[in-house]
Amino acid sequence: MKRVLVTGGAGFIGSHLCERLLDDGNEVICLDNFFTGRRENIAHLIDNRCFELVRHDVTEPILLEVDQIYNLACPASPVHYQYNPVKTIKTNIMGSLNMLGLAKRVRARILQASTSEVYGDPKVHPQTEDYWGNANPIGPRACYDEGKRCAETLMFAYHNQNDVDIRVVRIFNTYGPRMLENDGRVVSNFIVQALCGRDITIYGKGSQTRSFCYVDDLVEGMIRLMNADGLTGPVNLGNPGEFTVLELAETVIRLTKSRSKLSYNPLPQDDPTQRCPDISIAKKALGWAPTIQLEEGLKKTVAYFEARVKRGAAAAG
Ligand code: NAD
Ligand code: UDP
Repeated sequence: MKRVLVTGGAGFIGSHLCERLLDDGNEVICLDNFFTGRRENIAHLIDNRCFELVRHDVTEPILLEVDQIYNLACPASPVHYQYNPVKTIKTNIMGSLNMLGLAKRVRARILQASTSEVYGDPKVHPQTEDYWGNANPIGPRACYDEGKRCAETLMFAYHNQNDVDIRVVRIFNTYGPRMLENDGRVVSNFIVQALCGRDITIYGKGSQTRSFCYVDDLVEGMIRLMNADGLTGPVNLGNPGEFTVLELAETVIRLTKSRSKLSYNPLPQDDPTQRCPDISIAKKALGWAPTIQLEEGLKKTVAYFEARVKRGAAAAG
């Protein structure tokens, strides 16, 4: 049994990770400041004697005895990370510094949740880990993109200088139950709009592509990377199935049998035109590949939001 710290543990991915780590027989400390996380995401874990919840902001130091750290704390959707860009930068830089300091002190292994956004608007397709990216350092996405890029730099500096045992995962668009309905991400937006009969908001022409990974597949990959020997990463984790935003909208409308119409809206500045992971390293080194394809994952996600819409919890989104 290991004692595992999950920062951002009350968020979308973090809550699934906490659940899986408990199922695997670990003790889990979930740390969160509840900026985009929710108590209800982890309510079913609270009575587990191996689960502990700490309300804390990663920009402040903390002393804990742990064996492994998954550093996920950071808002992930453009709407939330652009709400307070300075705070997003602080969370990525000071949060990572604090977690690396902790890892160094207690000799814990630390996994940083990085992102496909480090590739910016990529000129290499699909994206391989050795591509340095094409990110705008002063645009509206920079607080997140450059914050994550610097978090990666910090991880490798602590590894090279202080021998900290690191893992870096570059996560591509991930979806599933417990996404926030109001955080503006495309999958939750489209599903809630379709279920509520509202217009589906396509940004731009909808020809931009994304590759959508179901959350259970991602969590499996993260755990494999954390427990693999001698592999620092960075490792891409994502589903190489690539879809245009328009294709996603049409699939969601079909699965929900919705009468919603498409509405075309301006494309946000610096919105990447295409994104698809090359997952050769994850396949070879971790024996990992996604198992849940888009329609199957969307059906599970639709079921989650349907229940919330019925309860009135997702009506306003
Ligand atoms: P999320 O917003 O649901 O979860 C982030 C969690 O971090 C929330 O619970 C939030 O309250 C918490 N948090 C934010 N700032 C904090 C702070 N200063 N101190 C403590 N807690 C803080 O997002 P998610 O989709 O679950 O993403 C989790 C991680 O994975 C993030 O680091 C994100 O950058 C990364 N990621 C996610 C995706 C994706 O598609 N979901 C893609 C790439 C990378
Ligand atoms: N998008 C859209 N309509 C929406 C929300 C998003 O067309 O209601 C587009 C957005 O412009 C982007 C893609 O969907 O091209 C994915 O957006 P998301 O915010 O989910 O993720 P990211 O841009 O960070 O990959």
